[in-house]
Amino acid sequence: MKSSVKFILISLSSFIVLVIIYIAINYFAPINPDRLNFVHAYFAKGVYESFEKTMSSYPENERALVDIRVLLAELRGNERTFADNILNTPPKEFGIKTPFYSRQNAYDLVRIDNVKLKDSAETGIQYLPSHVYEDYEKMMKAMSADLGRKLYVDSGYRSAGRQAYLFFKYLVNIYDFSLKENCKWIAMPGYSEHGSPENTAIDFVSEDGINGFSGSQSAADFERLPEFRWLKANAAKFNFVLSYPYKNSAGINYEPWHWHWAKNTGS
Ligand SMILES: [Zn+2]
Repeated sequence: MKSSVKFILISLSSFIVLVIIYIAINYFAPINPDRLNFVHAYFAKGVYESFEKTMSSYPENERALVDIRVLLAELRGNERTFADNILNTPPKEFGIKTPFYSRQNAYDLVRIDNVKLKDSAETGIQYLPSHVYEDYEKMMKAMSADLGRKLYVDSGYRSAGRQAYLFFKYLVNIYDFSLKENCKWIAMPGYSEHGSPENTAIDFVSEDGINGFSGSQSAADFERLPEFRWLKANAAKFNFVLSYPYKNSAGINYEPWHWHWAKNTGS
């Protein structure tokens, strides 16, 4: 064999070995919460695509209720290991101090019909545990009496499965594989108040479609609503609490639209 050919073959095989070592180093590296390395990002994308496929096999109305075990059962090999790894990491590792609520599905859910809002926006079918729904209805009766308008449920109860789907969807498509950024906006499954069967959260939207986050809206748009001022003055009487005020200690972004149910003990 000519020495030049030999040289090329040796260089090529060394290059391939180096690439394999490089991939292996990234594969075994600890998860970087600031930005996933390219191997972990590839697994995250695979998890998201599998979740998306499973979710779209359900009618739209039932997607808020999908059990997390159904989504996980569809994952194979590295994707399953990667998803388990992320789901078993407490969010405080990603800079967020929220308590664990539940990954069990709620029962006793009330179905709320779709509401058409201004500019062809709509709420979609929503669900709330019955005790939360009853207090929501009472509160809106009082708000309507005072203001002549009310707030609708833009997002109510979401299963841990729905939350897992949203978590990976935003991680892959919006927050560029940064777990830290993603966690400021999308709770880890089990850590969302929307998935708490007892202290369920509601994201509110006004009849004009103001929810503080859709399209080009900001939190200030929701904060300016008379409905928001009314909530601040009256929600406690109906067992609703603003979860994430401005600069909250949990490390979650300010969410004036997000209120959770908690029995008001009057203290
Ligand atoms: Zn919310």
